[in-house]
Amino acid sequence: MIDELNDLIRDKCGLLYSTELLLSILLLVFIIGIIANLSDDLNERILDEEEFSSLEKIAVETTDYLLSNPGNPENWEDDEGLNSGIVSQNIIPGLAKKNKKIDNGEFYDESASDEMIMSNAISYHKLMKVKNNYDSLVDVNLLNGSYRSSMSIYPLNSKIRPILMGNDLEDSDDNVNDNNIVTVERKVKCDFYSNFVVYDFNDLELSGEDYDRENLCNHDTNPNLENHSNDVQSIWLCKNFRVYRNSLEDYDYCLISDESIKNSGTNWILESLNRTNEDEKLLNQEVIGLNSFFLEDMENSSDEIYSIHFNLEKNRINDFRTVLVAIPKNMTDDLMSNDELNYDYFKVQDVRFILKIGYK
Ligand SMILES: [Zn+2]
Repeated sequence: MIDELNDLIRDKCGLLYSTELLLSILLLVFIIGIIANLSDDLNERILDEEEFSSLEKIAVETTDYLLSNPGNPENWEDDEGLNSGIVSQNIIPGLAKKNKKIDNGEFYDESASDEMIMSNAISYHKLMKVKNNYDSLVDVNLLNGSYRSSMSIYPLNSKIRPILMGNDLEDSDDNVNDNNIVTVERKVKCDFYSNFVVYDFNDLELSGEDYDRENLCNHDTNPNLENHSNDVQSIWLCKNFRVYRNSLEDYDYCLISDESIKNSGTNWILESLNRTNEDEKLLNQEVIGLNSFFLEDMENSSDEIYSIHFNLEKNRINDFRTVLVAIPKNMTDDLMSNDELNYDYFKVQDVRFILKIGYK
């Protein structure tokens, strides 16, 4: 009987102890909560007027710099280290795109002249290098380590994904914290992969009957070939271009079309001027690789002039959106896996550029 009573007392004591412990823990959690809240409040204190206007100034100046300068040193984006996260302190990134000049209708040379900087256009290639090395290039090299920042690119064309980079300042939209972040927005153009375009077949006035071919088509002058002058229902679009055999080691030549091409009823012929053909094929694939054709054709020559002919239905001319591109071979796989081997990525696009910046 006494033993049972002792057991009961012990149990009661045990119960008492655990209730006390629970209460203490609750109290501790409560206190920690208050402290955490207090320190949050300290972090989120609103900037005074002077701090805010100085932040605004930095944000506007940084945006202007990024959008109107190509960066230093020249061609900084090609620095090998950037591919493996090794960022030289000497690199000050700028995003402005330099104008490209077309060399013999084939490849594009970057001009060294400052006068060739395109106004209001940014380079996708530079953007990607900034994205992959954001902290070093932007927060440290450009902003001297005193600020946190983010950049975003929102293409107006919904077929192109937005690009977000830098610190996560996005949560600040719905509370007082907003007052500590300055946002600058500008509308600019972004080149995406338009550098790789050898021919844009839509850069002409597709006004049906009035369209004059830039190049006289070899089919018009050769009596053995069907004449490519326009008829009532369709027009012929014909272009010549030169390809060097050794460029096939470095570039993937492709025809890239919008998905609307499948409904356009377009036929096409590809031939070398020395080996003409009348082999009209329906153009119904979005991506067509051309290297195997060129390799076979140039078995015994170092370069050839090719002629590509498109027969377009006049009433479906808007469905014909096609470019001839030469993509550096080391990039083709990336483009494919990122779902960027699409027509819209090979056009210059209007985008909203947004820079957000706050004190550290
Ligand atoms: Zn033709």
